[in-house]
Amino acid sequence: MKTVREAQAIILKDAVTLGKETMPMTGALGRVIAEDVFSNRNHPPFDMSAMDGYALRFNDIKGADRKNPVVLDIVDDIKAGAKPVCAVIAGKTSRIMTGAPIPVGADTVVRVEDTDPSPEGTEVRIFVPSPVGSNIRRLGENLKTGDRVLKKGAELGPPEIGILAMVKKKEASVYRKPSVAILSTGDELEGLDEPLDPEKIPDANSYTVMAELQAIGVTARLLGIARDSRSDLEEKLREGLKYDVLVVSGGVSVGHHDFVRPTLEGLGIEMRFWRVALRPGHPFAFGTNGQPAKTLVFALPGNPVSSMVCCEQFIVPALRKMMGARRLFRRTIKARLEEKVADKKGRVHFMRALLENTPEGYLTRLTGSQGSAILMSMVDADGLLVKPFGKDEVEEGSMVTVQTLHGFEFQEDPDIEDNGPHEGHGH
Ligand code: AMP
Ligand code: MG
Repeated sequence: MKTVREAQAIILKDAVTLGKETMPMTGALGRVIAEDVFSNRNHPPFDMSAMDGYALRFNDIKGADRKNPVVLDIVDDIKAGAKPVCAVIAGKTSRIMTGAPIPVGADTVVRVEDTDPSPEGTEVRIFVPSPVGSNIRRLGENLKTGDRVLKKGAELGPPEIGILAMVKKKEASVYRKPSVAILSTGDELEGLDEPLDPEKIPDANSYTVMAELQAIGVTARLLGIARDSRSDLEEKLREGLKYDVLVVSGGVSVGHHDFVRPTLEGLGIEMRFWRVALRPGHPFAFGTNGQPAKTLVFALPGNPVSSMVCCEQFIVPALRKMMGARRLFRRTIKARLEEKVADKKGRVHFMRALLENTPEGYLTRLTGSQGSAILMSMVDADGLLVKPFGKDEVEEGSMVTVQTLHGFEFQEDPDIEDNGPHEGHGH
């Protein structure tokens, strides 16, 4: 049986970063850029005012204060987008707006709030000796012509998209998204479009997994439900193997009708492992075909919480790597446990937990029942409390790791304590 980290390492070896494609930057949010981007301009293009105020010579206002203001003649009124018409010499000042160019001769801007213009607007009293250079944005302090402004491998978030716009990079080379198919299995399952039959189990997994992938920018094709027969499974799994990634849920345990693994093997998939030392989600399996892999196959346990937890631990990191990301794992935070948690099984346990942000840091407690079929425990949860391997109990007041689920932040290390059973240990 593999530990979580061992299983992740095996998967990530097969999950190679896909090729590049060029796309409009307006649709590239969340993609990883596959090229360095350089600036084709200086920004700001000239020294400019950072405030509405008065451009002047610091020497003139050195001694100014409330009681002894310095009085300067106003010689110009410079708007953003306009050019100064005259220089600033001793005893003079130009009224200036945010973003307007600093006139020749001025070395400092005093903000409007620290001044008082005369009613006619011909002179202004300066109350504050703002330090030399105050309130001036320097030419190129944001972007300099020729500077590398985005590094190959950067994830494109809103500020990166803004930078692309500033350097007029309308199209960018980014890593491709994997094509993904999702298949649910089980005779008991009722599809979303079938009429409600109170005896049946509604297919949740197709949709939770679909949404977990949508949350990282991946659109999956839903293949529907395969019944627990070899022939139906074979037909639908064969379809799924046309994709870069196939996610199948259910039928991967030790039940009499759990045909997913043998059927996959019959279709040429080599199962890399089956069973991982985690709860929930123990029967999770992973396989591939070919070298490099043509399709990565993730076989999730049927219980809805198990499949969601396995999707977060194993599929999300793999897909992020395929899309060129370096931070693959959900962001974890440290939180203080409000009440003891117990679980005798010893495996790493991803427990559904609430987080409360207090001045003393985060507090956490379980959502309630932790059954792997209770999807409502995920609805209620802010994150997954990662109970470390081998600990039957974690005491009230101790610091624990919680994986956050609702953010868009990822990190390089999985941060999971799982010095668990290694190869050959357990079953
Ligand atoms: P299995 O892994 O096939 O043994 O299924 C374990 C449990 O998960 C059973 O109670 C199934 O009914 C349930 N289950 C399997 N697939 C799904 C699904 N797609 N949506 C909701 N529950 C499921
Ligand atoms: Mg089943």
